[in-house]
Amino acid sequence: MKVLVLGGGGREHALVWKLRQSPRVEKVWCAPGNAGIEADAECIAADSADVTSIVELAKKLQPDLTVVGPEQPLVNGIADAFRAQHWPIVAPSKEAAQLEGSKVFAKEFLRRHGIPTAQIYGAFDAARDAYNALSGADWPLVIKADGLCAGKGVFIAADATSAKDFIERAMERNELGPGGRRVLLEEVLDGDELSFILVTDGERYASLVPTRDHKRVFDGNQGPNTGGMGAYSTNNLLSPRIRQTIIDEVVEPTLRGLESEKLYYQGFLYIGLMLTKSGPKVLEFNCRLGDPETQAVVARMDFDLAEVLAEVAAGKLEPSRLRWKPGASVCVVLASGGYPGKSAAGKTINGLDSADQVTGVKVFHAGTKRQGESIVTSGGRVLGVTAAAATLEGAAELSYEAAAKISFDGMHYRRDIAKAARPVKAAGD
Ligand code: AMP
Repeated sequence: MKVLVLGGGGREHALVWKLRQSPRVEKVWCAPGNAGIEADAECIAADSADVTSIVELAKKLQPDLTVVGPEQPLVNGIADAFRAQHWPIVAPSKEAAQLEGSKVFAKEFLRRHGIPTAQIYGAFDAARDAYNALSGADWPLVIKADGLCAGKGVFIAADATSAKDFIERAMERNELGPGGRRVLLEEVLDGDELSFILVTDGERYASLVPTRDHKRVFDGNQGPNTGGMGAYSTNNLLSPRIRQTIIDEVVEPTLRGLESEKLYYQGFLYIGLMLTKSGPKVLEFNCRLGDPETQAVVARMDFDLAEVLAEVAAGKLEPSRLRWKPGASVCVVLASGGYPGKSAAGKTINGLDSADQVTGVKVFHAGTKRQGESIVTSGGRVLGVTAAAATLEGAAELSYEAAAKISFDGMHYRRDIAKAARPVKAAGD
């Protein structure tokens, strides 16, 4: 099997690394890839969001399977373009990808299907209307940009001043790009967050092991939101009872809703949940795997990913094939100085080999590139140091042992990934 993977972050490195282990896979390409992916795949310089050029590339390479990492190609209609040619691809249709591409679309979908989510105060196309809506609000309040904003489109406002400032930056100064032209206001939910990811062939589905990510940049969940500073997975994140509630109240109504609205969905569906006192509620949908969660998930996979994804693309998923290593996994993200704000690039990374030699550890690359003999930083999130072990504490210890061997100018990372972990409690538990 020849496989093309689109994207170039930690998620794609983890996917490529796992696909490469399949005896069925003879070749992996990754567009654009990064300095770490180069070890497992042939990297091709290409803009994965540009559907026309990816279709041209696929015409040339003729992959047996294409796996899409990031959201932009999905929202731009990559799945529809490939399916029109009868090329196997793991990706939902453009229409279905609006579940991620528009938070207003997702909210309306959730409401139509009676799926629990945060109460919404309104969606606004004009800044003036959004400012007016603040006068009767309870604080704190969540403000969300409607469209894609690379993880920077959600703000929890403590008061009217900071709320106005975010709305102004999004809607008047266009600081978030086109995704910020429309905003919605919703209630703050309280509880533990959980990432529940499933893969579906359009008919059957299988859930992946539960994960939790750490979105805030600093220890103790302080500082601004990021794309993710680390993640962990252990079955203890989810009691059988909460798991069943999530399946009954969220997963199955969502899949039935997609089907009844003829939104063609094949691929990964990431459901971001808040486990509140009154039960699990949907925070967001992503139409793809999360990052860094993927790195923690892949570390626990005990099945042939290429085989399963080929089945997904063919509409023949056999959910029982997804087997998981018991125990736990942890991914610690090493970030560039300044991240999640503007971060410096081109810093030489030291210690990669000795970190990778720690047993049970794999260092996935995110924002890295090769410069002569060296590997240098090229993005905000640089590496995902990922470990699997029998216990969560053991996996965290290994990740941190390996992380301590790596250095680059300005490097920072959270020291508390998975450390404040506790079994999830929610209504009825
Ligand atoms: P989203 O992109 O919608 O998942 O939002 C990013 C992050 O913002 C989530 O992972 C939560 O940490 C936080 N968040 C989003 N919506 C809410 C909400 N209604 N209440 C509390 N936190 C939220």
